[in-house]
Amino acid sequence: MTVGRFAPSPTGDLHLGSALAALAAWASVRRSGGRFVYRVEDLDGPRAVPGAAERQLEDARWLGLDWDEGPDVGGPHGPYHQSERSGIYESALRRLAGDGHLFPCRVSRRDLRQLASAPHGASGLPPYPASLRPGNLTSGWFDDERRRHDAALRFRVEPGAVDFRDQVAGAVSEDVRATTGDFVLKRRDAVYAYQLAVVVDDLAMGVTEVVRGMDLLDSTARQILLIRALGGHVPTYAHLPLLINPVGRKLSKRDGALTIREVRDAGVSAEALIGWLAAALGLPGGPQTPAEVARTFDLGHVRPDPVVVPSDLISLLA
Ligand code: GLU
Repeated sequence: MTVGRFAPSPTGDLHLGSALAALAAWASVRRSGGRFVYRVEDLDGPRAVPGAAERQLEDARWLGLDWDEGPDVGGPHGPYHQSERSGIYESALRRLAGDGHLFPCRVSRRDLRQLASAPHGASGLPPYPASLRPGNLTSGWFDDERRRHDAALRFRVEPGAVDFRDQVAGAVSEDVRATTGDFVLKRRDAVYAYQLAVVVDDLAMGVTEVVRGMDLLDSTARQILLIRALGGHVPTYAHLPLLINPVGRKLSKRDGALTIREVRDAGVSAEALIGWLAAALGLPGGPQTPAEVARTFDLGHVRPDPVVVPSDLISLLA
């Protein structure tokens, strides 16, 4: 059975890009009669905006989407807020440590930035050099307070390419050792990293199909390494086109019409907005319901090229 999910971070109101991801993930699951999960990715406390998770749920419902499992409907794989799943992440870390995949690390971002000779990756940091791994790890280090104190936990990346086929972006090959190197799974301030939480949750919730924005394509190889280390089944991936403004830049607040709330408050109907999103996914546009989108939707037909959001989108749809 196909299991898909929508997993927004409650850092503000849902924007058009999230709505596109939600619609595509939902339509693909509904088309195949699968199960759809809604998960709140609220691990990063300081970035989470109070009340945003509830507003996002409301906006997703307003769009006409529904889910079989989620914070407001329950389900067998809860809790559906990541902030309530620490025990699950900690046992995954323990297992990874036991299998030799982790090490504690006190090297700061600043230290890394100062490794000036290394080329800098997408994060603005050079890949973590394997030479900085601790050489003298005893088998019980994971439970040793002194070893864990003020240390991040990093995943040990071995050399070699990770290859996968994205349903939208096509063939991808990434040598994670060269791009990010050993990456953080739990931060020094004890926050579980997105990469860990998303993989552990997708596995625990039985997700078979990951549909999300193109900005996460470069997290996928790292996630596949983690899935393999945890002995899990790698899902299929579809990374949806970025939304850009008419001058070709990534949409920003200045472009207006960014959030579903704004579109909704301006009197645009959910069907009109769904129609625009359907067109962005390469389907015939015009007012329609999510169920109508699901009837013919095929992730394999979505084009990877960025989609321009007209500056007068609201008046076009109102
Ligand atoms: N929580 C992430 C976001 O809102 C999405 C995570 C994912 O789909 O893997 O950008």
